[in-house]
Amino acid sequence: MRMRALILSSLLASGAAVAKEEGVPTGKLPADVAPLHYALHLTVDPRRDRFDGEARIRVRLAKASDHVWLHAQQMNIRAARVTDAAGATSDAQAVAHADGGVLEVRFAHRLAAQEVELAFDYDAPFNGQLEGVYKVKVGDDAYAVTQMEPVSARLAFPGFDEPRFKVPFDLALTVPVQDVAVANTRPLREEKSADAKWKTIAYATTPPLPTYLVAFAVGPWDVAEAAPIPPNAVRKSALPLRAIGPRGSKDKLAWALEVAPAIVKFYEDYTAQPYPFDKLDLLGAPDFSAGAMENAGLIIYRDAYLLTDAHSAADHYRSVFNIEAHEIAHQWYGDLVTVPWWDDIWLNEAYATWGQAKATSALRPEYHADLESLEARLYAMANDSLLSTRKIRQPILGRGDIETAFDSITYQKGAAVLAMFERWVGEDTFRKGMREYLASHAFGSGSSDDLIASLTQASGKGDAFAKGMRSFLDQPGVPLVRSELACNAGKATLKLAQSRYLPYGVLSKDAPRWGVPVCARFGRGGGSDAQCFLLERPEQQFDVAGSCPDWYLPNADARGYYRFDLAADDLGRLGAAAAKLSAPEQLVYADAVDSGFRRGSVSAGALLDAMPPLAGADMPQVATALLGRYEWIREHLADAATRPALDAWVTRLYAPRLVRLGWRRKDGEPGTDTAMRTRIAEFLAMVVRDPATRAELAKQGRAALALDGGGKPDLTRADADLLVTALKVTVQDGGEPAFDAAQGAFEADRDTTERYALLGALGATRDPALGARARDYGLSAAVQIGEMGRLYEAQADEPENRAALWQWLTQHFAAYRKRLPPFAQAWLPKTFSPGRCSVADADEMSAFLAPRAKDLIGGDRGLGQALEGIRQCGALREHVDRKALAEWVAAHAVK
Ligand SMILES: [Zn+2]
Repeated sequence: MRMRALILSSLLASGAAVAKEEGVPTGKLPADVAPLHYALHLTVDPRRDRFDGEARIRVRLAKASDHVWLHAQQMNIRAARVTDAAGATSDAQAVAHADGGVLEVRFAHRLAAQEVELAFDYDAPFNGQLEGVYKVKVGDDAYAVTQMEPVSARLAFPGFDEPRFKVPFDLALTVPVQDVAVANTRPLREEKSADAKWKTIAYATTPPLPTYLVAFAVGPWDVAEAAPIPPNAVRKSALPLRAIGPRGSKDKLAWALEVAPAIVKFYEDYTAQPYPFDKLDLLGAPDFSAGAMENAGLIIYRDAYLLTDAHSAADHYRSVFNIEAHEIAHQWYGDLVTVPWWDDIWLNEAYATWGQAKATSALRPEYHADLESLEARLYAMANDSLLSTRKIRQPILGRGDIETAFDSITYQKGAAVLAMFERWVGEDTFRKGMREYLASHAFGSGSSDDLIASLTQASGKGDAFAKGMRSFLDQPGVPLVRSELACNAGKATLKLAQSRYLPYGVLSKDAPRWGVPVCARFGRGGGSDAQCFLLERPEQQFDVAGSCPDWYLPNADARGYYRFDLAADDLGRLGAAAAKLSAPEQLVYADAVDSGFRRGSVSAGALLDAMPPLAGADMPQVATALLGRYEWIREHLADAATRPALDAWVTRLYAPRLVRLGWRRKDGEPGTDTAMRTRIAEFLAMVVRDPATRAELAKQGRAALALDGGGKPDLTRADADLLVTALKVTVQDGGEPAFDAAQGAFEADRDTTERYALLGALGATRDPALGARARDYGLSAAVQIGEMGRLYEAQADEPENRAALWQWLTQHFAAYRKRLPPFAQAWLPKTFSPGRCSVADADEMSAFLAPRAKDLIGGDRGLGQALEGIRQCGALREHVDRKALAEWVAAHAVK
């Protein structure tokens, strides 16, 4: 409110005239003013509603001016001053422009080109959507936490809130004496106030940082200190290491601490650059909008993604490791070298995603990071098959483009493109280019073009490399490689053609052309070999070395970011040889069948026929590869007559394996068994609704919620890996008593992972009255902002709930939207998309959301993608031959 008053009064003065003259820079700030250094002193008491700040920014004016532009948002600036190079200080006028947080500082008179210091006294509210400086209450405890990326530092302090401005920060925090305060660097000094109620901590000057990597946290934190990470060939001094969590969480921080040193060393070896900051803190916040944030020297997580204990699911340990590997990778990729502008943000995220898989493969081979990345890449390909998808390097035209840049195209497609070009030039060559890039831009900025230049030089492949890589960055879509093998007199030739992969019914006038490194595996007798070809033209022919193969796979090692299309006999021969392929290659084969189905060229029967050979695979990702498509066929094509028969067929395919695996994790069992059990149990219980599977899970869920006696709820009574599904089944089948018990357990529980499981169970109820309670409950103060998505996603997963959920959204849109962090707003339409599969479904969603999309950051893009997905689904459903499916079902009836 104070901000509004400020805008109004200044416009009445002379603001309008200046704004008209020059234009308010709502995109990039002008190039003639640059910050050199920040000194920030913030007074933060998380029990209050606002915090106070003093900011002094040294600034270089490249030319004479009577004002400068910078950023500040929702801030009450009480005083602004400017001190010139000669030391003369005068008052300045701070004028807020635009909702995006552009601040104009007007000097009393024109200043010549020189270095000046801007000083601000201000206060600001703790933010209500988990950005800038926000607070979280847990019982009687209050915490202050920061999240600045991408453009929320302007809520915390006035500044030049763009990634290209990298300068040192000196931060001091005044906080209640009983609180723990942490920041990017080590504390240097601490002083108590005269009344002993406050302490002021001054932190070491940071290396050059962009505003979005500044971080601090204040509250009754538990701190677990580990032994410093010892020096090594790359780093000269020991590195202090700590993990920090909410009060009472100390014991749960041990595992995250234990794995950190090896991860740090892995990247030091790979990059030949020492860890860039003076300490490493891993902090788990009780509420957080993203998964984690790579602030320099102070990584902040959702606490669920940092804390572990003896009852954590196996999958949970794996994600804690993965996220830690991702965020630590960012300390080099993003923090040491930062992109100059948001259109290159893919570099940060693709690197960290690609680096994380590398570190995980090396340090935890049992996690099978290759399969995990491949599953994520296939998910990104589904997004990339929409005409409304983003390019990896999408022009940034506004806030919505910045927020929606953090999607699967940036992370997974970006990482896949790096991995594909790495496969083509070889790991050692690629590392050489990476090292050169990091070394020449350390503590500064590096763009896509800088990276491509370094890699191209190392590759020795000249312009073909640069052109190939750019073709994936600067145009959207997944290449479809049509491949034909011809054999003549024992010599084989491969004809490759490229186009854009488009699902059934989607037409595009564009004819994009990529530089695709196509590596193919050729099988002969018991062995096989891989050969790579660069497909640059629409169609090209290549000689295959060696004799005519028995079978071939046009994506050796599954490293290519493309789909392929084979003649039916070649696909058949490949299917027959599937056992000779590596697990990732088997997954790529399954995707070829699935993507063929989505293009309308593989029948439902052929897709179902491909399932049994995969169902017995050792790797859970392979064994369950086609279950998502099965679910689609079951929901959108089957009817009351065919559905039971299909379910009986698929249950016979998977249930025996689940029974053999048993209903609890065994001591020392391989992680693949655990993941197999979790995936199959969830599929049979939630999709097929198999009564036998549900009965077993309900036993565990009822014990966990103490529904049949046994004192208080205790979620550790259920198998940790099956907990989420067991609770859902229990609430769905247990009626109001089970719902009440889950709600009571949720309110008493401080463990975020358990709270997520309980919220999912509340959301999953299929009872209309309980569903109504669940929906309203999600907006209550009992449910934190960062966790409410669990409830609504679980609601939308159950077909019985969808109509009521939609009705509810139309009545509660404003309240729901108000709780969504900026990151999450664009994807609101997607949360309400499950089950929608026709033009009418798309029209209904559009009629309500299109007029409201502008109230959501990135809403137009999110809605556009959701609607296109719904229409694609409808087109495919119309196309698939139901009669043929009925015939297939009749022929495969379980007797
Ligand atoms: Zn990241």
